Amino acid sequence: MDFQLDQETRDSLEALKVWGRDVVRPVGLEADRQARPIPVDDPYFDLCLERGDGRTHWRPEGGAKSDKRRSTLSRLLLSEEFAYWDRAVMIANPGPGLPELSVIGGGTEEQKERFLLPFVNPDRPRWACFAMTEPGAGSDAAAIATKAQKDGDGWILNGAKCFIGSASRSDWILVQATVDITKGRAAQRAFFVEQGVEGLGPFKVEKKMGLKAYESASFSLENVRVPAANLLGGEDRYEKKAGFKTAMSTFNAGRPVIAANAVGIARAALDEMIRFARQHDLLGDNRVRDRIEAISRKVRMARLVCLRAGQLADEQRPNIVEASMSKALAAEVAQEATSHGLELIGIAGGRGDHLIEKLYRDAKAMDIVEGTGQIQRMIIARSLVGLPR
Ligand SMILES: Cc1cc2nc3c(=O)[nH]c(=O)nc-3n(C[C@H](O)[C@H](O)[C@H](O)COP(=O)(O)OP(=O)(O)OC[C@H]3O[C@@H](n4cnc5c(N)ncnc54)[C@H](O)[C@@H]3O)c2cc1C
Repeated sequence: MDFQLDQETRDSLEALKVWGRDVVRPVGLEADRQARPIPVDDPYFDLCLERGDGRTHWRPEGGAKSDKRRSTLSRLLLSEEFAYWDRAVMIANPGPGLPELSVIGGGTEEQKERFLLPFVNPDRPRWACFAMTEPGAGSDAAAIATKAQKDGDGWILNGAKCFIGSASRSDWILVQATVDITKGRAAQRAFFVEQGVEGLGPFKVEKKMGLKAYESASFSLENVRVPAANLLGGEDRYEKKAGFKTAMSTFNAGRPVIAANAVGIARAALDEMIRFARQHDLLGDNRVRDRIEAISRKVRMARLVCLRAGQLADEQRPNIVEASMSKALAAEVAQEATSHGLELIGIAGGRGDHLIEKLYRDAKAMDIVEGTGQIQRMIIARSLVGLPR
């Protein structure tokens, strides 16, 4: 395995270190202290736009060339570095987010123009999000019950979604729904639901144990009418049963990113442990050094598996097992690192004003989002013995 980095990635990593230390970490700590997402009109988001964040790399045909799309490897390293400073702030950042790849890969040209063009050179911070999870369908994404009913040349949507990142501030939400709940995966479709449309909402921002800087919201869809043009990819795609596959490929691409985030959180906990041990003259204690060694070894292992998943993606080779392995492993390492860190700092962790205590609360979600640890282990085991996933 050869993980050579180009100069552009090295420069971006250096710049992100400075941005992370000076801006991201303080913004994340403040949001955590105030136990609320960063407000939509916070000057932080304007700084993001000034920095060139919040944009899509998609370009209209004949438009100015986009910057070369970064390799997966490079994006994973940048995701790790961002999460090192604050994973929730990373997710709070404006941009087309999780559904971007689905739209680029599965949307019609007209949909790309309508829904991605505003993100090419945004006039203000803009968000978009992907809504899969429901109160009755999390891990078993094939069980979603939000109903899509044909109505003339459009569709009527009814259902409820929960824990959807940035939902209330998104320009549009890519909503996963079913045309026939008895037909499982093959009956799923994804629809663009635009903010402000009648029947969408109200949005309720969830109370979370960690990752407070970004909004996770629940909402309902009550007789929401969307035109036929808002069905992702048009009806033809679904004759090829692409609806569920598109949703799953979004998650497959996202798993190594979550793994990279978890590695970033674990690294932050490790650095904080070392800083605390040095400050309190504990580095002479063999038990303390043992912990530091164990966490450091595991962080490196998790990073290697994560980068391997990214490298396979760059070579356009199957990486489902590695993607799941990286997420299962890195989320465990992040939880172990933050838990050891909390033990090391002792009573200071119980007071709730120490970075490690925050990282401990943030780390758990790395095990839950985009497929829990158990689900990743199931995918790995079934793949290893040749069963369908
Ligand atoms: C901070 C946060 C942000 C999120 N953001 C989004 C978002 O933007 N968009 C979105 O659509 N969703 C989002 N989610 C939802 C997330 O994807 C789900 O929470 C996740 O898929 C798990 O679903 P669940 O919570 O319903 O748990 P359940 O599926 O009810 O699972 C409960 C427990 O049972 C275990 N389990 C379930 N099935 C099996 C099985 N077959 N074998 C063994 N064990 C099993 C699970 O591992 C878990 O431990 C977010 C969640 C969180 C916490």
